[in-house]
Amino acid sequence: MSKTHKFSRRHFLQATGLGSLLLGASRLGAAPAITSGRAKAKNLIFLVVDGMTNGTLAATNTWLNKTQDRDSQWMHLYSDAVARRSLMETHSASSIVTDSAAASSSWGGGKRIPNRRINVDADGKELTPLYTYGRQAGKKLGLVTTARITHATPAGFATNVIHRDMEDDIAEQYLQREVDVLLGGGSRHFDPAKRKDGKDVFAQARKQDYTVVRTRDELAQTRKAKGKLLGTFSNSHVPYMIDRLHDSEIDRVTPSLEEMMTVALDRLKGSKEGFLLQVEAGRVDHAAHNNDPAAILPEQMEFDRCIALGRRFAEENEDTLVIVTTDHGTGGFVVNGYGHDYNLSTPMFMRLGKTRHSYEYLADNAPKDATPGELRRQLVENWGMEPSDQLQDQMEQAFRAWQGDPQLLGIYLRNPLYDYYAVNWTTHNHTGDLVELATWGPGSEAIPAYLENWQLHHVIRDVMAL
Ligand SMILES: [Zn+2]
Repeated sequence: MSKTHKFSRRHFLQATGLGSLLLGASRLGAAPAITSGRAKAKNLIFLVVDGMTNGTLAATNTWLNKTQDRDSQWMHLYSDAVARRSLMETHSASSIVTDSAAASSSWGGGKRIPNRRINVDADGKELTPLYTYGRQAGKKLGLVTTARITHATPAGFATNVIHRDMEDDIAEQYLQREVDVLLGGGSRHFDPAKRKDGKDVFAQARKQDYTVVRTRDELAQTRKAKGKLLGTFSNSHVPYMIDRLHDSEIDRVTPSLEEMMTVALDRLKGSKEGFLLQVEAGRVDHAAHNNDPAAILPEQMEFDRCIALGRRFAEENEDTLVIVTTDHGTGGFVVNGYGHDYNLSTPMFMRLGKTRHSYEYLADNAPKDATPGELRRQLVENWGMEPSDQLQDQMEQAFRAWQGDPQLLGIYLRNPLYDYYAVNWTTHNHTGDLVELATWGPGSEAIPAYLENWQLHHVIRDVMAL
């Protein structure tokens, strides 16, 4: 067991200097002193991209440099001196590599717990989630994601379950705990026809005065309304951005993360006691699990647009603390040197601009009786490729072995595609990276340059007096 498990909140405050801040004796230069119990920040916008290695951050910034002659919004947080930059260590109680359940619980519950659990510690004790404290303080609460809304990262801020797969229970806990805005995928955990117990959780939500929306249009129509809102836009996760961009039917019904965040902010802002909002780009992680280079960049760029939204909101609402981070790395995605003097890396990487669909799309849409040769032709067409004979053979072999599983396809194609795009992956699992943490707004000065994930919970509660 790590020494950090014995750390109490009081010890942490002393260790980080926040304790002395509370006493008015700042060790952090110009940081204003605060007094215990008085909130510095009224609103929290917590922007989390799930499973982002720094290779993904770098590749996305490179892509924007090359295609739009600009840096990412994340890089602008640093170059415009908007945000403090920290590195965060991401272990869980059971491993040096966390899953999203333990990671989100570390922020949501303030303690490291074993992988797979949500706000239930190693001894079986339930941790009080951040949103329970927020509710007690009269704040409005919001969760927005491109994953199922019942997935681990949103759940970690508001619920307690012994296993992250208990998503039917998570859906009910959201309503019991009155999370005001819930937007994402995962209708199967609200729909009586899909739930194991046959309960109609959509009907329950309406009974509790939630507006329930199921399409992009319905979300847009409700934009200016007030009150509680539940929106699920797909049975499971929201489709990948790259598939939206190239399939008008998906695009018609699916809101972007940016659109969902805009609606959430409209609903939550103006609340007398402020709000807590988590916005998750859940599918960077999924693209990385699938080792799918076509899917990952548009997902990260979508998250990047949400950073701009958070920045704008915080400019207009100065009592807002904004946190931008990721919960762990996934996939070990990275751009590699290729060719003599690496002179092939740039043109090979730029080939990704021709891709049109994710592996998942191919798996969901290919005819069940398609031969490996037909599947290979579809992938070549979907990705606008001009592959060598050798690569075509490798692709066909991959389709002989993939069993319709996009993750297996990614594993089989990882090395062959390295010779086409100059990108590669270290794993289809999570990784133990130190992760980026960018923060600004009142209270951000209390966040150390290096910290462990669970410590963030205590800083948030202190600067928001929760
Ligand atoms: Zn993951």
